[in-house]
Amino acid sequence: MQTVEHPLVSQSIGTRRTLTRLHFGTAGARPKVMVQASLHADELPGMLVAHHLRQMLTEAEAAGRLQGEVVLVPIANPIGLNQTVLHSQLGRFELASGENFNRLYPDFADWLTEPDQHIAPLLGPDAATNVATIRQAMHAALDRRPPVTELDSLRHALMHLACDADVVLDLHCDFEAAVHFYTEPPCSDTLMPLAALMGARAVLLAHGSGGRCFDEALSGVWWQLRDKLAQSHGDAFVQAHPFPQACASVTVELRGQTDVRHDLATSDAQAIMAYLVHLGVLAGAAPTLPPLACAPTPLAGTEVLTAPHAGVLTFLREPGDDIAAGDVVAEVIDPVTGQTTPIRATVNGVLYARHIVRWATTGLDIGKVSGQTPMRSGNLLSA
Ligand SMILES: [Zn+2]
Repeated sequence: MQTVEHPLVSQSIGTRRTLTRLHFGTAGARPKVMVQASLHADELPGMLVAHHLRQMLTEAEAAGRLQGEVVLVPIANPIGLNQTVLHSQLGRFELASGENFNRLYPDFADWLTEPDQHIAPLLGPDAATNVATIRQAMHAALDRRPPVTELDSLRHALMHLACDADVVLDLHCDFEAAVHFYTEPPCSDTLMPLAALMGARAVLLAHGSGGRCFDEALSGVWWQLRDKLAQSHGDAFVQAHPFPQACASVTVELRGQTDVRHDLATSDAQAIMAYLVHLGVLAGAAPTLPPLACAPTPLAGTEVLTAPHAGVLTFLREPGDDIAAGDVVAEVIDPVTGQTTPIRATVNGVLYARHIVRWATTGLDIGKVSGQTPMRSGNLLSA
């Protein structure tokens, strides 16, 4: 294991934060997998998974099992991790800018088709060479845009680490939840074995959910670049200059914020190790994949249940429960008048996440059910 520290831009005199990454295997070996934890710095289950993963990878490396390369970033957001305000840790938004730490990542397909930096003349007939060319162009596009702020420098450093990876696992969690994935449709075939190993109860698919998330910046470039080249240069050019979906990236939601337990983290880390064997990053007998605990569904099909009025919120159903249309998921109760309002799902699916608060304000998103039929459009993510 090699430990590398990367200083972030200092936002003020007398302070400097550092991003630390752990490398396993030989730099440049393939497949390359990047795993990062707690980009939303108040979502901590992934950090404990990273702790167990570090030990397992260290043993695997000592046993000579590393065939590819693994980059592990156990603390992906040292800025948010230190934002404690009035005894509460606020890790989702940067206090200085109000920006979500998991939004506003590069639009690489846009950057690689700018008139003076267009990728098209650099592509040739060999797919593997084109993949290397596109990855090199992403690094160069980042280098042409040196970061100014501390937050910029964090995003910039994470993108340099991840943009040439074959698989990227971005470990998050929801308030209270079952394991679920957010990814783009071109990545799902590569990632479903991990969904099976982790027992994911929902795999939510969207071609870009609208927020320029970390994982979508990395997977989006490949299919978006192909679409853009088809538009500007025609289908025949794309066929003559092929490249695959060379990165599968995913936001893995590791249950809820308080599900920070050794038993869960150990089994999650073991699932990731088995997946690394499946990918050929680690030598070993291919794991037996358990049956999937869900089929992928469109993120646009998720029903977001809301509170119609304020009141005490009490749930009748647990994260991971199968829900039928018409089922009462929760009640909102006005304890002054006694008004009790049942909140019913209108779709069949899994209650994969629910809120952590128990006082509902009017309009609060109280839970999410993975419906199968698209019903929403526009930005599909919460703030
Ligand atoms: Zn998150």
